[in-house]
Amino acid sequence: MPRPIQATIHTSALRHNLGAVRQTAPDAQIWAVIKANAYGHGIEQVFQGLRGADGFALLDLNEAERVRALGWRGPILLIEGAFEARDLELCSRLHLWHTVHCDEQVDMLALHKTHEPHRVFLKMNSGMNRLGFAPQRFRSAWTRLNALPQVDEISLMTHFSDADGDKGIAAQVARFEEATRDLSGERSLSNSAATLRYTQQASAKADWIRPGIALYGSSPDFPQHSAADWDLQSAMSLHADIIGVQQLQAGDSVGYGSSFVAEQPMRIGVVACGYADGYPRACPTGTPVLVAGQRSRTLGRVSMDMLAVDLSDWPEAGIGSRVTLWGRAANGVVLSIDEVAQAAGTVAYELMCALSPRVPVVTED
Ligand SMILES: *Cc1c(COP(=O)(O)O)cnc(C)c1O
Repeated sequence: MPRPIQATIHTSALRHNLGAVRQTAPDAQIWAVIKANAYGHGIEQVFQGLRGADGFALLDLNEAERVRALGWRGPILLIEGAFEARDLELCSRLHLWHTVHCDEQVDMLALHKTHEPHRVFLKMNSGMNRLGFAPQRFRSAWTRLNALPQVDEISLMTHFSDADGDKGIAAQVARFEEATRDLSGERSLSNSAATLRYTQQASAKADWIRPGIALYGSSPDFPQHSAADWDLQSAMSLHADIIGVQQLQAGDSVGYGSSFVAEQPMRIGVVACGYADGYPRACPTGTPVLVAGQRSRTLGRVSMDMLAVDLSDWPEAGIGSRVTLWGRAANGVVLSIDEVAQAAGTVAYELMCALSPRVPVVTED
């Protein structure tokens, strides 16, 4: 028998979340962001649930090939564009739309031989200082691109650094609007946080939104808002079984470093999930888990292949009991991945992406 651990991808949750995002921005087209193997969920595993999107945005060429192999004939956007000239050949062949964020990418395009001109998204650095042309250089980049026979339509794009935080998006929106005022082309500005939090601001709506994390059922601005506040459902559940039980006496410790010490006699369960499965080692004693659908907590340090949970209040739980590390238990109770990420001092994005290839993944509706 394989180790009793499994991740489940919930197709209906993906579909629901896509619908929730669409309701928030009904006039926008949606790029479903599926970079990093669909945030660890698996491109093939999320495709059914997200095929109602208007396009898929990602950045690895092999992921674009996988989306085409699934039969998707609609738009695919490479959000970092071409890394080398050869990549443009694949863009032509697979009809990929691609970002252009630097002069070198314009140079590559100018030398590229193609029968069909490319649809490009010209990216502005409006303040995040990651990728993109500075506002004062944006117009000249647009003019240069617009003159290339290799280029069909040019869309205008930027990315927010603080859509989930206090600083907000106003300054970046103003910079973007100022520098693009008289340029034609569709606009794409908002990630999940901007879409959900600033939907009332007409300027943030634009033509194409780029939600990622919200589609997977995590709140982009947790703990200010929970996934439930945004009407989002967990798209991934991680379950493992209890494979050992120990009876502790007062003073007994648990795991490496003996970081947890029992104050009184108690029962603990040992779960077939550890950091080699993608469960964060940083999760301290007290991180929430569900044991047979009821809230309990972890005890001691997470090891490579196992972690311990408190069974004090669950005498009926034992070897073979199902533990939900995050997501939805069989009885319908949900433990948000955002809570687990918070306990680990990180964000749900990182937990999702870190799901280990050794964990079997199943999809269900
Ligand atoms: C990852 C990414 C997104 C999606 O962001 P979320 O916070 O997951 O919604 C949107 N746009 C760009 C350019 C990205 O890199």
